[in-house]
Amino acid sequence: MTHAAQLQTPAETNAPRDLLGMGPAELEAAVVAAGLPKFRARQLWRWVWRHGLTSFEEMSDLGKPVRQAFADMFTLDRPAVTRRLTSSDGTIKWLLRFPDGNEAETVYIPDKDRGTLCISSQVGCTLTCSFCHTGTQKLVRNLSVGEITGQVMLAMDELGDWPAGKPGRRLTNIVLMGMGEPLFNYENVAAAMRIIMSGEGVGLSKRRITLSTSGVVPEIARCGAELGVNLAISLHAVRDELRDELVPINRKYPLAELIEACRTYPGLSNARRITWEYVMLDGVNDSDEDCAALLKLIRGIPSKINLIPFNPWPGSPYECSGDRRIEAFAARVLKAGYASPVRTPRGRDILAACGQLKSASERARRQPTGTGKPASGMTADAT
Ligand code: SAH
Ligand code: SF4
Repeated sequence: MTHAAQLQTPAETNAPRDLLGMGPAELEAAVVAAGLPKFRARQLWRWVWRHGLTSFEEMSDLGKPVRQAFADMFTLDRPAVTRRLTSSDGTIKWLLRFPDGNEAETVYIPDKDRGTLCISSQVGCTLTCSFCHTGTQKLVRNLSVGEITGQVMLAMDELGDWPAGKPGRRLTNIVLMGMGEPLFNYENVAAAMRIIMSGEGVGLSKRRITLSTSGVVPEIARCGAELGVNLAISLHAVRDELRDELVPINRKYPLAELIEACRTYPGLSNARRITWEYVMLDGVNDSDEDCAALLKLIRGIPSKINLIPFNPWPGSPYECSGDRRIEAFAARVLKAGYASPVRTPRGRDILAACGQLKSASERARRQPTGTGKPASGMTADAT
């Protein structure tokens, strides 16, 4: 036992646990340990994950003493919202602050046939992709299971999506494309997605969840076998020399290893393809030769290609490719048989790009008069 553990006060040891971070087995064990019958855990689970209740008082089929016991044992708090921005195109962005003061972002992107929630897996990111603003942020920590599921719960609360699965629901898809590298926080991401996929709760199908990675090769097979969610790869370059610079994890796991892990990703088919994300950087990776090399690299792998217009940020070392160049690149991709490859930037008016709102908020706190005025653009439609 460590010194710190010996010094814990009873209040700390008995502090209510974050129920949003507990899977069904863990919840049942806690309920049974408190001397309550197992079926109480099932009742509680449905109230929380199917009906989205945020207070134990409303759980009408539980007697008062049971409700009180649960209120003493658990919390159902959502992450605190410090800013909420709604774009003219319907995109909503929440800046969240966790109890330790760290911040992360969640973005909801409505579309004709779906509504996609883009969630964060870490505060900041330890990787330093040269075109990505999140990579420039110093503070990094993993989000807990409850902080990840909490983003989904908050969005469902605000979108009026309870009970889960109701017709006309607004949140139909999740992409792990917010801040952070999800495969560096695999355990928490996996536990959170299992909770969100649970049929007794939110019940979102694995086919509606897409995890985006910069290429943490050893975790890719595991993600496919254990979770079975869709995979998106931040490819961005098709030569090792360039990818080493743009996506530095490439130095550890070069293209050949990455492509092999994708080729053997469990469950790939024409209905379940890898999404290749490719940010269009003017004069860097956007030539016809790059396009030909891209098509050659992924040949034989069931694929979708997302060409992402680069969102510049203050001090960013790149510019977005011109419209004509993007069109020419896209035309070649189309000709090779891949459909509608260019992603439309969304939420331009609300700083909806990865990491930008958080940085603007930090700047505003440092210099209260400054606007920070970062550039814009969130892209949707990853699935
Ligand atoms: N870390 C994971 C998931 C988060 S990033 C990953 O890298 O895949 C989500 C996507 O946004 C990635 O494809 C990333 O490359 C892209 N992205 C980051 N900064 C961007 C920018 N400034 N402009 C356009 N796309 C960007
Ligand atoms: Fe991290 Fe992804 Fe940004 Fe790279 S692109 S720094 S992996 S969040």
